[in-house]
Amino acid sequence: MEQINWLEEVTKRKDQLIKDTQGFLKIKSVLDEENGTPAAPFGTGIDDALHYLLDKGSEDGFTSKNLDGYAGHLEMGSGDELIGILCHIDVVPEGDGWSVDPYGAEIHDGKLIARGSLDDKGPTMAAYYAMKIIKELNLPLSKRVRMIIGTDEESDWRCVDHYFKHEEMPTMGFAPDADFPIIYAEKGIADFDLVQKSDLSSNSDLCLESFSSGRRYNMVPDFAEAKLEGKGDLQGMVTEFQEFVQKNSLVGRGICDEDTVIFQLEGVSAHGMEPDHGKNAGLYLASFLQKYSLDEKAKHYLNFVNEYFVGDSRGRSLGVAYSDDITGDLTINVGKLSYTPEKGGSLGLNLRYPVTNNMDDTKKSLEEVCKKVSFELTNFSDSKPHHVDKDHPLIQTLQKVYEEQTGEEATLVSIGGGTYARSLEAGVAFGPLFPGRPDVAHQKDEFILVDDLVKATAIYAQAIYELAK
Ligand SMILES: [Zn+2]
Repeated sequence: MEQINWLEEVTKRKDQLIKDTQGFLKIKSVLDEENGTPAAPFGTGIDDALHYLLDKGSEDGFTSKNLDGYAGHLEMGSGDELIGILCHIDVVPEGDGWSVDPYGAEIHDGKLIARGSLDDKGPTMAAYYAMKIIKELNLPLSKRVRMIIGTDEESDWRCVDHYFKHEEMPTMGFAPDADFPIIYAEKGIADFDLVQKSDLSSNSDLCLESFSSGRRYNMVPDFAEAKLEGKGDLQGMVTEFQEFVQKNSLVGRGICDEDTVIFQLEGVSAHGMEPDHGKNAGLYLASFLQKYSLDEKAKHYLNFVNEYFVGDSRGRSLGVAYSDDITGDLTINVGKLSYTPEKGGSLGLNLRYPVTNNMDDTKKSLEEVCKKVSFELTNFSDSKPHHVDKDHPLIQTLQKVYEEQTGEEATLVSIGGGTYARSLEAGVAFGPLFPGRPDVAHQKDEFILVDDLVKATAIYAQAIYELAK
């Protein structure tokens, strides 16, 4: 019984696995709410993909359930405890620039190319075949195994919200929706705005008419623009701006006429989980403008930005710096900056905090700083950190399986981003992307290597069996 050759079992079924995966990938399961119905709230594409999998599951003898078109599950085994495999069948829109049909699921040079091949329909089918193999081998299980099928992972996670309102939380489980070996810790993620609250005058010889940079909390802005109006040596400012741009290896231009000057600055975009990987155009422009004697209101805004955020992505000046051995530093990305004399200034922040950090305390500290300098913290939203202990049986089992199947060490990875696994209480992200492979999720010509699909299926099969036996 213990001598199952998992890879061989998958290889026997390889042709069918590929065919079923291709059929699945040919369904354009992009969110289409405008054409949603009560039974298919996210549109027909997503509903077709959900049915494709649920119908296949019923035919293969799994218990299947559709939760109002929001989510579904396929179950096997018996027992009190439940092992959860969390997948999603929705995909992001294909975008431009493909060299093949994004929904053609063609195979070229061993690559199965399609939107969703890697994220997350390919691995979903791998996990499905893993369950199917265990079922066909009639292996005895002492727990139930459930594939939980989400339909809204790429947008608002309404699928898992709805699902766990009505269904039990698995004892433990994994999401095949990120990287191998094992992602066991994810920082907490808080988004919020800091809004200027001041009655200072916006009249002066030289006024800031507008300042704007960035559109998303979780991205480092790669463009910023400011418009100034008034008297003074505007041409001299343009010259100084060019020197500033050069000194910081940026790209920018200053355009001036009689009484206005516009500064445009290009930075380098990066994911908000590590602001230091980019060059924040908004912060650079704010630091350039700080030395000029602008109107009181603009100065108040720019001083705040400079004192607490320029050159400091760790919250040191704000007094909220924090670090732990599991997930590293607390980071702050200034994703949005905007100012007009009428509305005043605001910053949109994306704060990622370590698993042992207490967000309530951090938020209180932030509010105190803000109060002192006439800013207000608003629009707060928070996704808690996620962490499964190194010694948890889930981790121990997945490590053993991964090492046996690949011969590589199953290192535990912690990340600043959030994976689907955080919607499980005791869950980790486990594959499908092997170390060293390019991450082409959400990109044109997204692919999964057929060999990796087969290998992942073998890993999932053994993992599910070892967790549920
Ligand atoms: Zn995904």
